Amino acid sequence: MHYILVAGGVISGVGKGIIASSTGLLLQTLGYRVSCIKVQPLGLMAPAEHGECFVLSSGGEVDLDLGNYERYLSVTLSGDNNITLGKMHKRVHDLERKGHYLGKTVQIVPHLTDCIQEWIERVAKIPVDGSGEEPDICIIELGGTVGDMESAPFLYALTKLRHEVGSKNFSTIMVSYVATVHGEQKTKPTQHCVKAIRSEGLIPDVIACRCEKPLEESTISKISLHCQVGLDQVVVVRDMPTIYQVPHLLHEQGLVPLLLSKMDLPSPCKSLAAKGAAKWESWMNLTLPKSQADLKIALVGKYVRNLDAYMSVVKAVLSTCYCSMAVTPWTTGKINLRLTRHDVRLEHAAMHYRYNLKLLLINAEDLEPEAESQDPDTYRSAWDSLASASGLIIPGGFGKRGVLGMMLASRWAREQKRPYLGICLGFQVAVMQFARDMLSMKEADSEEFRPDSREPIIIHMPEVDRERMGATMRLGLHDTVFQPGSEASKIRALYGGSNRAHERHRHRYEVNPQYVEKLQSMGLHFVGKDTTGQRMEIFELQDHPFFIGTQFHAEYQSRVLSGSPPYLGFIAASAGCLDQALKEQTAKGPE
Ligand code: GLN
Repeated sequence: MHYILVAGGVISGVGKGIIASSTGLLLQTLGYRVSCIKVQPLGLMAPAEHGECFVLSSGGEVDLDLGNYERYLSVTLSGDNNITLGKMHKRVHDLERKGHYLGKTVQIVPHLTDCIQEWIERVAKIPVDGSGEEPDICIIELGGTVGDMESAPFLYALTKLRHEVGSKNFSTIMVSYVATVHGEQKTKPTQHCVKAIRSEGLIPDVIACRCEKPLEESTISKISLHCQVGLDQVVVVRDMPTIYQVPHLLHEQGLVPLLLSKMDLPSPCKSLAAKGAAKWESWMNLTLPKSQADLKIALVGKYVRNLDAYMSVVKAVLSTCYCSMAVTPWTTGKINLRLTRHDVRLEHAAMHYRYNLKLLLINAEDLEPEAESQDPDTYRSAWDSLASASGLIIPGGFGKRGVLGMMLASRWAREQKRPYLGICLGFQVAVMQFARDMLSMKEADSEEFRPDSREPIIIHMPEVDRERMGATMRLGLHDTVFQPGSEASKIRALYGGSNRAHERHRHRYEVNPQYVEKLQSMGLHFVGKDTTGQRMEIFELQDHPFFIGTQFHAEYQSRVLSGSPPYLGFIAASAGCLDQALKEQTAKGPE
């Protein structure tokens, strides 16, 4: 096993995950099997602060960077590929309870650090690409920045791992940030962070310098001199129009040959190398700019202040339609979008349908009647923005805030015959609003928001724990069975005419089966159900160009090189080329 550690210095959030994923992709294109581990000192974090919780096929709720790995590398990771300090402490505690340490004094060094090292060595070997073969290389991304108190045990364990496997089997990429102050590119922070990682006993083989503009020759020489590395070991990762072009940038600068020259890796087998080369060609074709007209899509949600909270949804839209994206912070400065973080600067990514996607982020509460009385300008501009969109997407979410706004937006899409894609909560709110409007169930509600509702159209799933909150939802991969009579449905055609869909879930509530017949009689067809036939998974509205909701989150399995069927259909419908998409998908057949 060969390990590549990607660590960061200076500041966090500058794109370690993208650099790690891009490095993995480049190694794959040469024919190597690559796995990834994310070491993240903290546990669960608030979506509005840290970004979405990514859901794995196994049901693991993990850091969003695992989503990047899955999307770039087309691999399927397990919860064990996400290491947190809490998980490691729990493991040591469990071992101690089992008598594993036989009455010894249990300490951070060596017990916790050994536990981390063993975990990494075990997980690195798990096959992830569906072939059943052990990976050749494991990329380990260390969250946070070197020097953080939380990461100390991890750095110790990684240093020991390097010592044991040898430097020929362990490379380190240090991601730094080069700020420009008064027009001058500053290298001091980079020098300090390289010093910090060296003092831990790890030697950087590559210094990846994040920066907004290309670095001057003199800056690169300075870094090379003061950090005592060759000029070729300083790689410049400037801002790119899309994050999918970062692999091109690393490729141009010879990152992978440099890493391989430091490692003792046998050449990959010919057939994998040929597959890898084909993958690189598809990647290049897909990510080169080809945009034409603009396509406005509204996203109505409650975490719109931080786009990372909807990362997979946004990526699914992007990679499915191969659109570029420009986020429009239309909400009169009220919403302070974090425009700096990642691909919100995607302006000219390559596109299948060749549209330049304009994502309109709308705060659901601004669409509610209360906003009309309290802040009429914001209310009006929210509705104007929605009305200008060619399609509406309502993603997942928890809690009551903004639900009324989401319901009203779903009604607008239904009545105005605009394409609608509801994901999880977006599926549930559309059913609630439909019941209120079409079944005269004025009090139709979800038990999540009104536990005493007299018309509970969305109910708590019987098997889900009502008391404990952590990891007790219906999680991960479950089968959806397309129902008899759904042969002509759009969603089924999008899944290639298959009789099943396999997608990931994360929910606690579901459609009340008692009302299903009534809902169907008014045209809201549940074309996909779970294997028992009791749980509603997909609805599709009759006599509407595209009004589809899924209880599952198809975005989690959207890959850069193969878009997710519901998203593909939704974007095609919004762009007026649904027939083309249906034909293409049907011709492709089931996955
Ligand atoms: N809050 C809803 C539920 O638990 C929807 C969850 C989601 O959108 N992920 O069922």
